[in-house]
Amino acid sequence: MAKTHTFFIYSILLHITITKTEQCKILLPQQFDNTISNKFHNDPATIQHASNDYGNMVHEFPVAVFHPSSIQDIITLIKISYNSTVPFSIAARGQGHSTNGQAMAGDGVVVDMASFRKERKEVAISVSEDPMIGYYVDVGGEQVWIDVLYETLLHGVAPVSWTDYLYLTVGGTLSNAGISGQTFRYGPQITNVHELDVITGKGDFVTCSNKKNPELYHAVLGGLGQFGVITRARISLEPAPTMVKWMRLIYSDFSAFTKDQERLISMNGVKLNFLEGMLLMHKGSINNWRSSFFPLSQHSRIASLINKHNILYCLEFAKYYYDDQSEKKVDKEIKVMVQGLGYIPGLHYEKNVSYVEFLNRVRSGELKLKSQGLWDVPHPWLNLFIPKSQILDFNAGVFKDIILKRNITDGIVLVYPMNKSKWDDRMSAITPKEDIFYTVGFLHSGGFDDWKAHDAQNKEILKFCSEVGINVKQYLPNHNIQEDWKNHFGTKWKSFLQRKQMFDPKMILSPGQKIFNKYY
Ligand code: FAD
Repeated sequence: MAKTHTFFIYSILLHITITKTEQCKILLPQQFDNTISNKFHNDPATIQHASNDYGNMVHEFPVAVFHPSSIQDIITLIKISYNSTVPFSIAARGQGHSTNGQAMAGDGVVVDMASFRKERKEVAISVSEDPMIGYYVDVGGEQVWIDVLYETLLHGVAPVSWTDYLYLTVGGTLSNAGISGQTFRYGPQITNVHELDVITGKGDFVTCSNKKNPELYHAVLGGLGQFGVITRARISLEPAPTMVKWMRLIYSDFSAFTKDQERLISMNGVKLNFLEGMLLMHKGSINNWRSSFFPLSQHSRIASLINKHNILYCLEFAKYYYDDQSEKKVDKEIKVMVQGLGYIPGLHYEKNVSYVEFLNRVRSGELKLKSQGLWDVPHPWLNLFIPKSQILDFNAGVFKDIILKRNITDGIVLVYPMNKSKWDDRMSAITPKEDIFYTVGFLHSGGFDDWKAHDAQNKEILKFCSEVGINVKQYLPNHNIQEDWKNHFGTKWKSFLQRKQMFDPKMILSPGQKIFNKYY
């Protein structure tokens, strides 16, 4: 039976009557007709799109999807809600690459940042130089990182901190942290931002930085969309390398693997630019959608070692260089660097690729999965941060026990360390307290019906960690009740709450995170 639901946007001025499953009638006052009234969409395809995400497990239906063509449009929308006696929730939707409905707004309005990217009239990616801070790029929050890469390369420069996959928006990754193999050295993406333009939950347009409105700046970075919509980020740049020496070493011993990872991220002198790691647990993980690397001729050898050990650990690193002449020098440096590392003798592999090919390495896998209809399946992902002192316990209890016992992990499992000193604790992002902590990412792809088995495994992992006292923190966190969010933020909960009261007191923004459920 259709559920009729009525609420008011801007008390007297704007009145929306919704028949939830069928119609949405938007009556706008005269003064809005020429500004934003024609920017609400509620056709079934648009609503359907905004009520799904990469996770394909959670579905929250908005009343309307808003297609802004200017920053002023977003300001107007938020102000209407804020000034209403019954405010409605609003979520910016970047690429919708969250997995648990974080960019949704059930019964509210989704701001489609992808359409803003197309409609926006002002220049949205612009490179400049400043005597104090060097090269930087001003980027719209709706822009995707791949376009930032191509534009900055035209100037011979590029950001230093990336995500593995580049078709994510700047606003979306800065709302989390933005991590990858560069994070140990350059920090997450949030610590490479000089300045932001933000529209707060009151509809105020504010420029903020470490010095100017620092409270808002620190709140927004890693702030899960709770404090404002990012419309511009000023990101630091460095001269762009041209080539990358990319290596993988295979281990059978987890303790040797993590010891070497920690050693490589702590080196002085010759420094790597990128370091990650992953589990090899089945034939499909040897080459996977995230990157095809190992030569085909080696597959049977690696597969037979997986059979023997159940799990292998693959350490992955990269060193950038700038021209052909330096390749020999890089080779020499790497030869010295890998001496004494504890990988299985002979199991080291290398590639030379262009910088763009390296950074955009996930794209070809994405296109392949899309062509097979396997990209839009459910994705019951779990991403964790784990203190260094507990990573061996995690291996014993989770990788060697829960995962092997359940035998359903056919996706990718990433494991790599980061240096806490490269993070800024004033920002909203949450990390463990130790100097080095690991990220472990279970990047499962489920079938349409069997994602629940992966979800159950994720819950078992979290339960195990809680029972034995492994202090994990979720990255791209997903909690359903405020008590769990309080635990997540720990000592930072108080300031998170104060900042919410300061910048979004009516709790309008990003309800899909389920932190402040007033309108959810
Ligand atoms: P959305 O999912 O659309 O939004 C995420 C949250 O941010 C929502 O709460 C939304 O309301 C809010 N938001 C969006 N835009 C804005 C804005 N302009 N201002 C304020 N709030 C906003 N993450 C990593 O760190 N490293 C990785 O290597 C990595 N790899 C990934 C690979 C794939 C294939 C996928 C699907 C995801 C990956 N992620 C990775 C996770 C990704 O960073 C997050 O899911 C991120 O939120 C996605 O960005 P998005 O643009 O799709 O944001």
